[in-house]
Amino acid sequence: MIRIDLRLCIGCLSCSNVCPSQNILRTETAEERRILWKRCREECDLCVEHCPARALSLVPFDEAVPEPEASFDLVACRICGRRYATEPMLRRVEASLPQSQNPEWVRACPTCRRITEAERATGEMVAGRLKRAPGWGGAE
Ligand code: SF4
Ligand code: SF4
Repeated sequence: MIRIDLRLCIGCLSCSNVCPSQNILRTETAEERRILWKRCREECDLCVEHCPARALSLVPFDEAVPEPEASFDLVACRICGRRYATEPMLRRVEASLPQSQNPEWVRACPTCRRITEAERATGEMVAGRLKRAPGWGGAE
């Protein structure tokens, strides 16, 4: 079965996503994510391999060991306000960025990031065409 070190878990759900036996249960409301790691007899090791925080390990099965649970508040997107990730996840991403990179995008949800990036790319494309098109405010 698996053992989890709750001090290391960042609530990313990678383990739950890869478990082929649905042994790692999750529930999510608009504000909170809860995870329950059931006692597992399969020991396929997938969850252990995919945990980015190295919070999981395999140990001998023991019926007496309680099934651990964790809950994480979800952080609101700085643009739309929708809650989308746990604070430890965001801190981990921020810590992994090179110093030269603007970390602001980390605090925007994936949807807002896509929209912002599309708007930026469109703005650059329009500006580029205006520069090249005589009579449209660009170089003649
Ligand atoms: S060891 Fe395999 S079956 Fe067991 S909880 Fe992890 S991923 Fe699921
Ligand atoms: S993959 Fe690791 S860090 Fe992510 S929720 Fe599972 S145990 Fe926690």
